[in-house]
Amino acid sequence: MNRRQALAFARGILADNNIDDASLEGEILLRHALGIDRVQLYADLDRDLTPSYEKTLSKLLERRINGEPSAYITGHREFYGLDFRVDRNVLIPRPETELLVEKAIHLAENHTITRIADIGTGCGAIAVSLAVNLPEVTIYASDVSKPALAVARYNCKKNGVADRIVFLNGDMLEPLPEPVDLIIANLPYVREADLTANGTLSFEPPLALNGGEDGLDRIRFLCRQAGTKLRDNGFILLEIGQGQAEAITDLLQEIYPSSRLEVESDLAGIERAVSLRLTLSRI
Ligand code: GLN
Repeated sequence: MNRRQALAFARGILADNNIDDASLEGEILLRHALGIDRVQLYADLDRDLTPSYEKTLSKLLERRINGEPSAYITGHREFYGLDFRVDRNVLIPRPETELLVEKAIHLAENHTITRIADIGTGCGAIAVSLAVNLPEVTIYASDVSKPALAVARYNCKKNGVADRIVFLNGDMLEPLPEPVDLIIANLPYVREADLTANGTLSFEPPLALNGGEDGLDRIRFLCRQAGTKLRDNGFILLEIGQGQAEAITDLLQEIYPSSRLEVESDLAGIERAVSLRLTLSRI
């Protein structure tokens, strides 16, 4: 079997097993099996695979068919144009989370923001993307999971921002040494019942997904604490799940009555980001 045939084989078997984006996923797994990049693959499509590469490819396809996300199989995921290492200790960064990073960069460009805290950093996707794009800002990144922090530290070094991020192990805002201008967080917000019902999420750490009965446990906790760790005129920027915007904005309005709130939708039209600006007259 040559590379061209291997691509068709991978695509066919993935499509037959109802894997979305079978062509792309098949290509990713073939490239991973061969240890080559896209350019190398397409430059030599007629080259034959050795039997041992064929076997490797079959094993990778089997893992994918069993539901394992390709990011865990390859150990990589691209986010905000950067390469991140991922393993089963961390949530795989989703494209919609780029909206949060974009919003944060926009805020930092238009307001005085010198310190940012990324709460529940996971693989560090948000913190590292901000560090790369906002060279003047000090960034704190916290996570309750030590194995997750190890992945985040690796990604921080790999992307050349090791001196820019302070990693903190602890629950939510508790380890933050000082108030910040922006708290940004993609906390767990999946309802517990949906977690067990959803097969594809079963490979990812429940700690990063499980938001309790209505999905909002962690977000509520952060919202209540945030006032004490935010400077006046500071911002909170939260990723939320489908259908959660109203509950979160009601809660924030109640805790910070004179703050300014905004909700933004992702490319799929789902309300995905809630931002709050804390005003001086908060109670
Ligand atoms: N966006 C993820 C999903 O629904 C959930 C991420 C989260 O809980 N923060 O698969």
